[in-house]
Amino acid sequence: MKHIPSQCPLCGGKVEAGTTTFTVDMKTGVVVVRNVPAYLCNQCGEDWIDNSVSLELVKIADRAKKQNTQLEMVSMG
Ligand SMILES: [Zn+2]
Repeated sequence: MKHIPSQCPLCGGKVEAGTTTFTVDMKTGVVVVRNVPAYLCNQCGEDWIDNSVSLELVKIADRAKKQNTQLEMVSMG
């Protein structure tokens, strides 16, 4: 599990809850997931995603893989 810091280890910026866009490239296609709940550095934009959220992303990617979609846009929000 990825530890979510309160301060960015890269630039020292503040890490705040927000949403991000996550892209999965599976060679057969690309899945773009929008409104992914994440923690973001307010200075450099580095993001951290909860374990439960990344599991959900894996599920979405798996489903797209089975459907053989070339480009899929999903929103988690
Ligand atoms: Zn940062």
